[in-house]
Amino acid sequence: MIALSGIEKRYGAVTALGGVDLTVERGTVHAVVGENGAGKTTLMGVLAGIVAPDAGTITLDGTPARIASVEDAYAHGIGMVHQHFRLFRRLTVAENVVMGREPKRRGGYDHAAAEALVDELGRRHGLRVDPRARVGELSVGDQQRVELLRALHRAAEVLILDEPTAVLTPQETDGLFSVMRDLAGQGRTVLFISHKLREVLAVSDMVTVLRRGAVTGVRRAAETDERELAGLMVGRAI
Ligand code: ATP
Repeated sequence: MIALSGIEKRYGAVTALGGVDLTVERGTVHAVVGENGAGKTTLMGVLAGIVAPDAGTITLDGTPARIASVEDAYAHGIGMVHQHFRLFRRLTVAENVVMGREPKRRGGYDHAAAEALVDELGRRHGLRVDPRARVGELSVGDQQRVELLRALHRAAEVLILDEPTAVLTPQETDGLFSVMRDLAGQGRTVLFISHKLREVLAVSDMVTVLRRGAVTGVRRAAETDERELAGLMVGRAI
């Protein structure tokens, strides 16, 4: 169980998060939804060690966790895949996946080992992409696979995906959703930031709704619908 509690974050006069509680069961896809500016990315940034909260605590499986940096998050198996890819377009898929993780050998890094690793990770997670291809030459969907592989290489237990379907075709979105379900089926946890309610209901087990830095609802996907979630997002009584 992953639990964030009483998370607060202010940017000057703006309260991005005003004391948020979020509980996520491992082995599930848990969506965090809300309108632009609701605080979704900030909340997930706290879990990923990117945003330092002003107050609040994180508990992982009952044990308090201090996540003060991205490296701390990785150490707890938590990684975030950003809305905008952070890939090196002139490098290969394998180089992007292992970058910063593999010790450099004398005479350069071990291409064969990195390519084998990407092949193995890709097979395990249903994310096949040619490890030798240059990232700049790949489709957007394949670039996202590289992002996912990179995150899985660093932090395989909890994956935070920030609006991952924004740049994907419907077919690529279906492919991503099947990867997300597979990850959850393997006991991994997927946090899915989105404002596309139809997609959220198609892939998630649970949905937490944020509005203006506060939680307005937590629902099982199977027990809610677009209308109710849309109402919670805008604070409309339904
Ligand atoms: P979006 O869907 O647009 O990404 P969001 O729900 O993820 O929205 P956040 O990005 O978390 O929302 O932003 C919450 C609030 O905090 C917004 O008012 C935003 O302008 C503000 N905010 C976020 N990051 C910063 C920052 N680095 N500096 C100043 N204000 C920020």
